[in-house]
Amino acid sequence: MKIKNIELEQVAGFKAQWPKDSLPEIAFVGRSNVGKSSFINSFSNRKAIARTSSKPGKTRTINFYRVNDNFRLVDLPGYGFAKVSKAEKAKWDKLINEYLHDRENLKEVFLIVDIRHEPTALDKQMYEWIIDSGYMGFVIATKFDKISKGQIQKHIKQIKKKLEIEDEGLIFAYSSETKHNKDVLEEQVEVIINA
Ligand code: GDP
Repeated sequence: MKIKNIELEQVAGFKAQWPKDSLPEIAFVGRSNVGKSSFINSFSNRKAIARTSSKPGKTRTINFYRVNDNFRLVDLPGYGFAKVSKAEKAKWDKLINEYLHDRENLKEVFLIVDIRHEPTALDKQMYEWIIDSGYMGFVIATKFDKISKGQIQKHIKQIKKKLEIEDEGLIFAYSSETKHNKDVLEEQVEVIINA
């Protein structure tokens, strides 16, 4: 599924603002600074459709991107900012869980992690929410260009172990710089949309 057209269709701070049709959706979630905006930009062949390096406080929205008029990419707010209050964290939890549990359009969720680092406790919690909500548990391990070839397997195994993933095929190494595995992910998106 090559992305030909993409537009930011809706920025939703609460449920009533979610688009009201039945277009299938694929969502992306990850720790702040993990490379989620860069992923969305590179995957959709756009320089800056998604904001990069967004600041805490500006990101408590679910952004819906309409693609080729037949599905949506959904950018879920990043987590793990150093300075968030308990109230902010609670708000984030509600926003995410509501979307994961209630959104009938949602077909799959991809957790984005940085291939260089062991997933954190928050990544693990997020991954458990994804699995518990009935999704496959796809992972995009981005910034692939930042590690050497000889280190790849070690890093993939670290992610697999920490997130307790049985099927390594669920983990896609990716680079927003080189677009490594973009074609593989395009095929996966196509499969999900047509399922
Ligand atoms: P977000 O907060 O998750 O949306 O993260 P951003 O997309 O803003 O990326 C955070 C930083 O990582 C930025 O400086 C990006 O340029 C950098 N970055 C993101 N993806 C990659 C990648 O695949 N390769 C490299 N080398 N840098 C990346």
